[in-house]
Amino acid sequence: MFVGHFAAGIAGKIACPRLPLWPLIGASQLLDLGWATLVMAGVEKLRIVPGLPGSPLDLYYMPWTHSLPAALLWSAAAGLVAARWWQGVPRAGIVVALVVFSHWLLDLVVHRPDLGLWFDSLKVGFGLWNLPQPEMALEMGMVALAGGGWIALRKDAGLSAGPAPGFIALLTVLQMVSLVSGATENGVQMGLLALFGYGVTMVGAWWAERRDSVASRR
Ligand SMILES: [Zn+2]
Repeated sequence: MFVGHFAAGIAGKIACPRLPLWPLIGASQLLDLGWATLVMAGVEKLRIVPGLPGSPLDLYYMPWTHSLPAALLWSAAAGLVAARWWQGVPRAGIVVALVVFSHWLLDLVVHRPDLGLWFDSLKVGFGLWNLPQPEMALEMGMVALAGGGWIALRKDAGLSAGPAPGFIALLTVLQMVSLVSGATENGVQMGLLALFGYGVTMVGAWWAERRDSVASRR
């Protein structure tokens, strides 16, 4: 899953409008930000298996970012940091923790069994990647739904809707680019590509809200 994760970040914004969107977007991909870094360092591993449907990635070793205990630890840590950082914002910690953990649940739906229930063992994954069209429909459907909720939230707060469709368009373009760009077995290249993609979306989310005053984030 790629852009579908961002829907969870937008849902976090709807649940806690006083949080800026860009860290929520980062939270929705925090496990992959960690994965990209560890793949570049050679700690977590991937290989390409040509002919695998949906995604040719075989993510055969990622116990530190995509196992259930690791995901729970990352979520708890991010929640604690957020609760401290946004002390005056009720629910900030729990919303950020849930957005981080949503990544694992969504990966569980699409990944082939590569998510360890206990670090590198007991791997699970429902494998929706094996059905590329329904998988894509799910991702884009989630983004559309969350985007609709976000537009409604902005209108309610008396903000212009414009930046929301702009950000959704950016996500759609990134999804198309990821479809045609293919994957590589080179961990450094793959990690840089992922960090670049997530960096662009976080900048895009910041851009979408750059003219909103904090007071309008109710
Ligand atoms: Zn992931």
